[in-house]
Amino acid sequence: MTKRVCVIGAGAAGLAAAKYSLAQGLEVEVFEQTNSVGGTWVYSEQTGCHSSMYQNLKTNLPKEVMQFRDVPFRSELPSFLTHEDVLEYLQEFSRGLPINFNQTVESVERIDNMWKVTTHHGTGINEQLFDIVFVCNGHYFEPNNPYKDNDFQGTLIHSHDYRRAKDYIDKEVIVIGAGPSGIDIALQLSDTARKITLISRKATYPTLPENITQISQHVKKVVENGCETDDGTVITADTIIVCTGYFYRYPFLNDEILQVKENNQLVSPIFEHVVHADYPDSLFFIGLNLVTITFPLFEYQVKMALAFATGKAPIPDRQVLIDYERNQIEHQKSRGLETRFYHLLQNEQWEYLRRIAKIGGFEEWPYMKTIENITQYLHEQRKSNVIGYKNINFKLSDDGMDYEVVRC
Ligand code: NAP
Repeated sequence: MTKRVCVIGAGAAGLAAAKYSLAQGLEVEVFEQTNSVGGTWVYSEQTGCHSSMYQNLKTNLPKEVMQFRDVPFRSELPSFLTHEDVLEYLQEFSRGLPINFNQTVESVERIDNMWKVTTHHGTGINEQLFDIVFVCNGHYFEPNNPYKDNDFQGTLIHSHDYRRAKDYIDKEVIVIGAGPSGIDIALQLSDTARKITLISRKATYPTLPENITQISQHVKKVVENGCETDDGTVITADTIIVCTGYFYRYPFLNDEILQVKENNQLVSPIFEHVVHADYPDSLFFIGLNLVTITFPLFEYQVKMALAFATGKAPIPDRQVLIDYERNQIEHQKSRGLETRFYHLLQNEQWEYLRRIAKIGGFEEWPYMKTIENITQYLHEQRKSNVIGYKNINFKLSDDGMDYEVVRC
């Protein structure tokens, strides 16, 4: 009998899971809690919703790196895309997929070797049994805000609720954290705010606009009039934007099935960031990793998962699945990374992709080498020219195996 697949979430990861499951002849139902596809790429003027998208966000990866296999972005688009461009791409990619909109997954339970998935739609409850579940609910919707409780007299928000630079005209703003959100938001604010102080150990950018001051420290605490850094300096401001990242969250899975450890930064027990160690042929997580090429990586992860689910590739011994977490913690330690960076791949993503293709027994995508080369080139550009690197355009050779930078 044809296996039934449930996909939770219609963002990029969920769409990939649905598309490649259908391509394998499986029966698929996608459940999406909002009324549209795109997940994190859906912009809303309202705050407090699923997406953390803000006005005028441009991708920090070029379209040549972000595309699914054989589905290029429109050729007339520049390399660095607006969020509207990405959403349009995902809408196109989603055509024909069986998506149930406005259906929130309430619970996923194990019953008689099947997954009982309970969803709600308005006041109605729906229960269905599935053989396979892909969890693709994203991980940029639950703010990690260590300063939620504070005595600050001004306005304090998390980057999840940042929308427009024009809301900060003439303000004095502290941006806490210089990850992708912190630096991007600080640069947007430099056009509108009077003064921006970017506080983060990562705040060491070589050239920034004049109204951005970098303080390479951690914030110890938020005080009435601003922030105190680890060395005791107090910086004052009327607004604080906390850009300290996000938590993983799976409200529909109980603790017996899934734990989220290390201050909600480590999803457990998962083999190779995808495969649940106790249900290796039926419960999969797509897109858990941090600092990766996203869409092509999702595609590889889905392919490995499907190889296990359909019996096309042998599932490693149970002990290998179980030991993965301990080994990965040790491995990250050997890279100088704390356990909270368990899912961080960065420059190890290329080796990871090769490994999961081998484990899943599927052919690697030759173009992945071009993706790797462009990503590595950009890594240096971003460090030396964080203001201007998004003006770069790439031109691919006819066979896609080489590229040139056509405009800087
Ligand atoms: P993030 O990558 O988790 O970065 C959080 C930052 O906050 C880190 O630099 C961290 O530094 C810092 N931090 C934490 N506690 C701090 C403290 N007490 N004081 C000062 N700094 C502190 O989160 P994010 O920047 O929100 O990015 C999340 C994801 O969103 C990224 O993976 C990216 O893909 C995506 N994103 C993309 C774009 C784009 O495409 N244009 C824009 C924004 C976000 P330590 O590590 O030193 O603690």
